[in-house]
Amino acid sequence: MTALDHDVAAQLKDAAGAEGWSEDQGEIAPHLSEWRGRWQGKTSLLLKPDNTAAIARILMICNQTRTAIVPQGGNTGLVGGQIPASGEVLLSLERMNRIRRVSADENLLVAEAGVVLAEVQRVATGAGRLFPLSLAAEGSCTIGGNISTNAGGVHVLRYGMMRDLVLGLEVVLANGSTLDLMKGLRKDNTGYDLKQLFIGAEGTLGVITAAMLKLVPQPASCVTVLTAISGVSSALPILNELQYESGGQVQAFEIMQRRAIELVLRQIPGTSNPLPGTHEWLLLIEIGNSAALDSTHATEQVLSRAIDHGLASDAVFANSLKQREELWRLRESIPEAQRKQGRSIANDISVPLARLGEFVDMAEAAVRGVLSQAVCMTFGHAGDGNLHFAILAPEHQDALISAQREMEDAVHECVWRLNGSISAEHGIGVARREAFARQKQVEEIRTMAALKRALDPNNILNPGKLLSAGLP
Ligand SMILES: Cc1cc2nc3c(=O)[nH]c(=O)nc-3n(C[C@H](O)[C@H](O)[C@H](O)COP(=O)(O)OP(=O)(O)OC[C@H]3O[C@@H](n4cnc5c(N)ncnc54)[C@H](O)[C@@H]3O)c2cc1C
Repeated sequence: MTALDHDVAAQLKDAAGAEGWSEDQGEIAPHLSEWRGRWQGKTSLLLKPDNTAAIARILMICNQTRTAIVPQGGNTGLVGGQIPASGEVLLSLERMNRIRRVSADENLLVAEAGVVLAEVQRVATGAGRLFPLSLAAEGSCTIGGNISTNAGGVHVLRYGMMRDLVLGLEVVLANGSTLDLMKGLRKDNTGYDLKQLFIGAEGTLGVITAAMLKLVPQPASCVTVLTAISGVSSALPILNELQYESGGQVQAFEIMQRRAIELVLRQIPGTSNPLPGTHEWLLLIEIGNSAALDSTHATEQVLSRAIDHGLASDAVFANSLKQREELWRLRESIPEAQRKQGRSIANDISVPLARLGEFVDMAEAAVRGVLSQAVCMTFGHAGDGNLHFAILAPEHQDALISAQREMEDAVHECVWRLNGSISAEHGIGVARREAFARQKQVEEIRTMAALKRALDPNNILNPGKLLSAGLP
């Protein structure tokens, strides 16, 4: 661990303010391990300032003294990007937690980076609007983390990724200057759109301190249905028909393999499957109704035709809020059930929509070719071509761990052959750094490295994450 110079630490503590730092390892400990316990970090200093000016001073000091610093929001990231791996100073945004403004008329909300996503959703709902980003970690993850990872979740199909929901940003650069990109204009073609640089940058180009977010109308009601389908490739024709019939109002289109549901039923008390049986693949579909158009009847018709054509075999509609919550609980509990059952290998891939089925077949065969006892389990955002492809081996954990690298490479090779991406929404962090370096075109990496050098010439911001140290 690089020892932090005593004098530099004193300057940083002074900049963060009396309540804005901690050296207490008991307080620091929860910030150093991530949700699945994969990466363990270390640091002697946690900074937790509560205003942008303090963050600007902190970064100025870090830049002048070449002190590395790692930004952290809710610590729910799944690729290790928020963990100080080598004793860097840890900058928590947890006290940057104010909602600065909400305007229903303008359909926007201004939140500081440390506001938890569920709180933004709650305030938006209170103003009669919807903030549509939704993911299983929404009770802990923060707006700054969501922006820095360009988070996805279950509503991307209808509302886009985080990138599509950001109207403006306030960012502190590595040299301590503050970029105020908060005009919030819907149209502005005056040069490069700088805010886009920081979205998905995983804290390597600047520290996001606040954001202006887009709000949308709340659906008047929802049609929520769980349906059993004959295979992964049946999903796309069903989606296209539903989009046509509902005027593009499908807001969630999630796929789950039977093994994923069985794991949830085993690991999460109080869950039940309303479509028990031998169905190998299930879709959880949700369509937002406008005040003028209720898609329930159209959805019934589409699924009934799908059953006639052998694309689906059964369906159950949620008839109450409670039933809707129960269906969503099945889907949202999969990551928690996966964590509870022990070690697993997570892949977060995307491929062209028409090749989802091909990917599952190829990847399952490739994994079994490496470790015959491995069990593959797929779930995810089928409407976005994004699958979470997990590899488990409950009774062969040691074999799983020793074959991990080989199995990941085998899955990435399938993704590569299908012209897909090795990270659809979780990012690169440290987990995917090597695969990223192998699979990205050299010119793409060179351009990213040039941006990094321009904005952070001393490499103080989250070093070693996303781009490795030996930049081209
Ligand atoms: C159960 C579970 C389900 C999940 N489901 C999804 C899903 O459906 N879709 C999805 O996209 N993700 C999902 N995730 C991953 C995770 O929740 C998201 O990546 C989330 O956006 C991270 O937010 P955070 O505040 O926890 O960020 P952190 O984990 O704290 O940080 C993530 C990255 O952002 C950087 N960062 C954080 N705050 C800032 C800031 N203010 N300025 C600059 N850089 C910053 C960090 O350095 C790090 O690189 C899931 C995670 C869990 C545990």
